[in-house]
Amino acid sequence: MIKAILFDIDNTLFPSGEFAELARRNAINAMIEAGLDADATETYAKLKKIIKKYGPNYPKHFNALLRELSMGNDPKIIAAGIVAYHQAKASIFPYPDVPKTIIQLREKGYRICVASEGRALKQWDKLIRLGLHNIFHDVFVTSRKSEKFYRSVLTKLKLKPQEIMMVGDSIEKDIRPARKLGITTVLVSSHPSKEGDYRINKISELPAIIERLEND
Ligand SMILES: [Mg+2]
Repeated sequence: MIKAILFDIDNTLFPSGEFAELARRNAINAMIEAGLDADATETYAKLKKIIKKYGPNYPKHFNALLRELSMGNDPKIIAAGIVAYHQAKASIFPYPDVPKTIIQLREKGYRICVASEGRALKQWDKLIRLGLHNIFHDVFVTSRKSEKFYRSVLTKLKLKPQEIMMVGDSIEKDIRPARKLGITTVLVSSHPSKEGDYRINKISELPAIIERLEND
């Protein structure tokens, strides 16, 4: 009997990858407009390498980019990039079927939770921008989605693994460690996979899966 459903955020509740790419491309165009003498496509490839090298939470990607392009520190260009980046990031939307499905599950009596990896402030920022921050009963943020993390969620919810369902797009983070504890896992992916107890293309397929599970 499922009592609580945990949702990943990035690429589960909203197309994080698409928005990140859009934000970076907008930033580069704005930097070129502000005076950066570089090709947009090549610069985008360089920026991606920098993000990979320093990690997504490093605060000075654009400074590193200018260094990579052998340019000095130019605050006008960097500020132009930052503004455009944040403007694009400010316009994130959930996948269209997400809000209504989550509300539907909540109304059916399930405890609706977020299980997210990253920095708490950043993940809350996303939930607020998505307009979902008051829909969830609980939000759990960890620096790493390990078995230990899922065990701590079970303790906090006072539930057994078989009473919980984890929904996410990452096999490594959302499926494997949760499944090891006996949590029912649902992989959100358009590609066939043997991982996860179930696989769905979109969140709106979830209520039918839960219903089937309850009637078994
Ligand atoms: Mg994800």
